[in-house]
Amino acid sequence: MYRKEVIDVISKEEEMEKIKNEILNCKKCPLHLSRTNAVPGEGSINSLIMFIGEAPGRNEDVEGRPFVGAAGKLLTSLLEDIGLDRKEVYITNVIKCRPPNNRDPTQLEIKTCSPYLDRQILLIRPKIIVTLGRHSTKYLLEKNGITFTSILRIHGASFNLRLDTFNFLMIPTLHPAAALYNPKLINILKNDFNKIKNKLEEITGQREKVGLEKFF
Ligand code: URA
Repeated sequence: MYRKEVIDVISKEEEMEKIKNEILNCKKCPLHLSRTNAVPGEGSINSLIMFIGEAPGRNEDVEGRPFVGAAGKLLTSLLEDIGLDRKEVYITNVIKCRPPNNRDPTQLEIKTCSPYLDRQILLIRPKIIVTLGRHSTKYLLEKNGITFTSILRIHGASFNLRLDTFNFLMIPTLHPAAALYNPKLINILKNDFNKIKNKLEEITGQREKVGLEKFF
């Protein structure tokens, strides 16, 4: 019994490595036929904050890393503006393989692929999840029985959500690519990132007060 318990304890790093390898070898949907690389996600698995985009684009498919193209450069600079290094947060997508021609993911692709995201969330257990754009926002809202309306209506708001028994705060914002097409949207993104910074500081402060830092 004791031996079994010892064997059953897999470290957080090992579990993430397991998820990553499953994603890299995944053939659960036809997107595996057209991908160059699956894109599991990257960053700190101990982060208090996680960023979830839509799906890999062309550059991400080639490199096997999330948000490395033009939208990724903008995301990196938005993070830096609020004092975050992209290596210290966790960045991933709802869909781990590139849809051909960057089309929207289908409902079936989201249903098939999202268990990987759920496992990543439940392993990292971030206090805040920032959803980038409508697909990740809709996914997490609908999992909580909340109808998604429009990203322009709800961006910057905070939602107390749950995945299984795990509670977290979701802050939706626009997808950085939207601001590349329409530069007027950059101020909305910057504003939302400042709200994210404030929430993170609120949570970090609270964490120190209640002495939870020993758990991180
Ligand atoms: N857009 C996304 O949603 N995710 C990426 O990784 C890159 C672009």
